[in-house]
Amino acid sequence: MTAPAPVDLPMPARRGPLVVVEDLVKHFPVASGLRGKRRVHSVDGVSLEIARGEVLGLVGESGCGKSTLARTLLGLTPADSGRVLFDGTDIARTKGRERKALRRSMQLVFQDPLSAFDPKMRLGTSLEAPLAQHGLGTREERGQRIAEVLEQVGLDESFVHRLPRECSGGQLQRAVVARALLLQPRFLVCDEPTSALDASNRAHILNLLGELKDQLGLTLLMISHDLRVVRHICDRVAVMYLGKVIEVAPRHELFEQPAHPYTQALLASSLPDSPEARGTFSTLKGEPPSPLSPPAGCRFHTRCPKAQQRCGTQAPAWSGTTTEQHQVACHFPGP
Ligand code: SF4
Repeated sequence: MTAPAPVDLPMPARRGPLVVVEDLVKHFPVASGLRGKRRVHSVDGVSLEIARGEVLGLVGESGCGKSTLARTLLGLTPADSGRVLFDGTDIARTKGRERKALRRSMQLVFQDPLSAFDPKMRLGTSLEAPLAQHGLGTREERGQRIAEVLEQVGLDESFVHRLPRECSGGQLQRAVVARALLLQPRFLVCDEPTSALDASNRAHILNLLGELKDQLGLTLLMISHDLRVVRHICDRVAVMYLGKVIEVAPRHELFEQPAHPYTQALLASSLPDSPEARGTFSTLKGEPPSPLSPPAGCRFHTRCPKAQQRCGTQAPAWSGTTTEQHQVACHFPGP
């Protein structure tokens, strides 16, 4: 068997990676009138590392491929090419018991707490289902485990008797986190976990996730279109545009010295009053191009205030900026 070609990873993890994503590609075929079938380039050659115990933020506008990347990374959607290693194991090559054990280790925290639970089912029944599916414990032991995780997320045992509609949005999102913890995962992918919540509940859930990460030694991928969320909790941040990751940096560097024009524009558009963005960068203009036919060269060149001729023909390679940990894919990075 030939060894796989080396992959250009944009972001070496300092503490040793738990998750390595190598050149991951996921396109979806769609019918497109007279043109026949075309393909949505949802994820187009993404490489990432997530260190053990780290919270990596993944930000970008809606439709840039963040959620598809999450589902492909978890093995819930098969990749077209590339691979995902979890603790050194290629998840696509696992089968049977090994696949089941991997599934337990990697859990998804859903975006919308209301649609995450069956509206007619009491929370206790919904929470017992994953334990039963994995054949874990007796009925009594499963009840004890459910009480334990409810306590970990700040809910008392009586919540097992409630229907989803009898809970507030914040309580229900805590129950969603509890369900993700039931199987004692090592890695949580949180897909916009606070987007359906008000500001106060958003802060509570982010604080809770931060505490659980420390208590349980979890590694998190925090997906959000909201830069305030990633600034609150993440160690490093990856920025995604039209199916590609275009900048990765430790959180403080990304907010204080964003190097990619898209990151700069995202910062100016999302946090216009922040000291980092105020008056420094132009806000985002126009809509992203269709992922059915992403532009040649740099994908951001149709909206970039710094674009030059080369940007329309030549895709930029990764380069370091101030530190090895701060990497950017742009021909003309910097302020
Ligand atoms: Fe803008 Fe060119 Fe950099 Fe792309 S490569 S972000 S178009 S300056």
